[in-house]
Amino acid sequence: MHRDVAIILYHDIAEPVHPLAKHLGMSVTPDIFRQHVRYLAKNYDLISAGDLLSNNLPRKALLITFDDAYRSMLEYGAVILKEASAPAIFFGISATVAGPSIPLDNVISLAVEELGISRVLSLLELENREISSTAGLIAALLPELKTRDITVIKEKLFSSLGTTEELVHKNSHLFLDAGDVAELGKYRIAIGNHSMHHVFLRGLTDAELHCEICESRELLERISGQSVDYLAIPYGSELDATETVLQMARTSGHRGIFLVHARSNRFRPAANIYYRVDAGSGPAETLWRKLQVEPMLRTVRDWARRSRRRVSPIAEVVPAG
Ligand SMILES: [Zn+2]
Repeated sequence: MHRDVAIILYHDIAEPVHPLAKHLGMSVTPDIFRQHVRYLAKNYDLISAGDLLSNNLPRKALLITFDDAYRSMLEYGAVILKEASAPAIFFGISATVAGPSIPLDNVISLAVEELGISRVLSLLELENREISSTAGLIAALLPELKTRDITVIKEKLFSSLGTTEELVHKNSHLFLDAGDVAELGKYRIAIGNHSMHHVFLRGLTDAELHCEICESRELLERISGQSVDYLAIPYGSELDATETVLQMARTSGHRGIFLVHARSNRFRPAANIYYRVDAGSGPAETLWRKLQVEPMLRTVRDWARRSRRRVSPIAEVVPAG
């Protein structure tokens, strides 16, 4: 059994939400985020990336993390965290920060907002599938894509929108740039790696994985001037934590790997693999259930399922320790 630590995940802090993020369900209002941080500071011992590395954890350790590349991390997140003297890790998508790459899920959100989901499904030749939401579309389309497929799909969607990736990236003012990321260092915010292009890793070739994991880490270290010690797997599924991914992450210098399964970290599969809980956008009162109750229930449920199957998928791919 490992030392317990709760790790919470945020993405975008916005009101209203930009069309590039509107259909992804990843945004929380600044007011709710401030309430969350006050609640967490009052009820937990907030720790930093360095504390996690040292493994010298207080009894009610909690780490705040942010994923993706939204500028709201600096505009609202850093300021509100500072009010509570709360440290955090920001996991950046390096090609979005360095510009002008936009993750495919953001492009799909924009296309759904501008064209409607029926037209987007038709463009992507998915009209015969029973898909009624952006989340369903992403789950059906994205996990097995290769880098070249993503390029073709993005070109098709931008062409239908009558614009280009470069123009949308520049005019949206939605994403952090390299200077912004360097500025995060002035706050108690460590920089982590969230891949080069925010893609599912499970179907990629070794060369594509090298770009997403190793080159992305190097780029983020150059941009931020900080050591990048952690990798957050895009979309957070253990299905993307393949043996090759874990080995490449470790040998390229990552000292911890983060998933997004709301399970207890007391029972995580290896000392340097961590589960995270998505904070959601509800009021602070929902956090106790999300952080204390649901992870334990899910851990028990997963144990029951695996003992029925007599195999643990992650045990097969994750070396102990
Ligand atoms: Zn992400």
